[in-house]
Amino acid sequence: MSKVNREEIISFLDDYNKDDITIATLGSHTSMHILKGAKEEGFKTAVVCEKGRDIPYKRFRVADEYIIIDKFSEINSEEVQQKLRDLNSIVVPHGSFVAYAGLDNIETIFNVPMFGNRDILRWEAERDLERKLMTESGIRIPQKYKNHRQIDGTVMVKFPGARGGKGYFVASSPEEFDETIAAMLHRGWIEEEDIKSAHIEEYVSGCNYCIHFFYSALKDEVELLGMDSRYESNIDGLVRIPAKDQLDIGLNPSYVITGNHPVVMRESLLPQVFDIGDQLVEGAKKLVPPGMNGPFCLQTLVNDDLEVIVFEMSARIDGGTNTFMHASAYSYLLFGEFMSMGRRIAREIKSGKEEDSLDKVIT
Ligand code: AMP
Repeated sequence: MSKVNREEIISFLDDYNKDDITIATLGSHTSMHILKGAKEEGFKTAVVCEKGRDIPYKRFRVADEYIIIDKFSEINSEEVQQKLRDLNSIVVPHGSFVAYAGLDNIETIFNVPMFGNRDILRWEAERDLERKLMTESGIRIPQKYKNHRQIDGTVMVKFPGARGGKGYFVASSPEEFDETIAAMLHRGWIEEEDIKSAHIEEYVSGCNYCIHFFYSALKDEVELLGMDSRYESNIDGLVRIPAKDQLDIGLNPSYVITGNHPVVMRESLLPQVFDIGDQLVEGAKKLVPPGMNGPFCLQTLVNDDLEVIVFEMSARIDGGTNTFMHASAYSYLLFGEFMSMGRRIAREIKSGKEEDSLDKVIT
């Protein structure tokens, strides 16, 4: 199927009443502060909402329009797309939007103007593309092992589709890898053919910082807007059990995100933070034009040599931005007012409108 046609998207945008733009998104993930931020910047808002899940938007009064659907995936239907275009909508993609609409559909059939670069979403979803983007941008990432026989230190093993950590495990030798794999096969957690797709990487012992950047294509500037740290089940509960009891109960660690804490980093680490943000933006401009347009997140571990090591990225607004629906320490430094990531997106759309360059920030 052919890709969404840029000319067609621009022609929809040309037909929009620019004084009556709606900022729309799917009701999930980070939609509340996307919509709230849009209202703060003077836009109308619309939420595409699965039946029965409209309560938060009503109770927090963040949406002006509701497009109620039976299943999230119906966001791709011609009827919903038409409703969105009739509202002069610019859609903000987030993690749940990508998951429910589906990457292939976003690339081929979702014909509604979207904020940011729709082509870059695949680069965060596919591990090899993600590594290529980070490596070619010159960013330090965990070393990858070609196969389990090479394991010579502690490694983290990840299976495709196990994002969020369920099914991840830690091993320190080829033998330990084999033992855990055998146990997982025995429990039916994986199939024989999954083994060859196991991704094995250096285990980084450090503290977790997920860094939320915004790249303004209009100003050509990378902004640091916030940071969070993940609260993961069961690992964050497991570490509250004394080590001797941990051995007795034989629980395996998992890394499923259940929430986020706001966090700030040692000030002396910030030059590294700006460097990796700038590097990724430059890399993305070359590999996936027009590049990392808008919000992105680098998920890092900082070790005791004070190296910031990136183990994952989001090429769109990340869930951890919910820690600053009002402001973060960093967004306050930069803006001196309440500035969430959602509001920052809306402000970019507003600037694009005022400068008559909306085409630079949508695809
Ligand atoms: P991910 O699904 O890649 O976001 O990872 C989920 C969690 O697994 C992270 O938040 C970390 O706690 C942990 N993790 C992922 N990769 C590594 C690594 N290379 N070293 C240590 N911990 C990791």
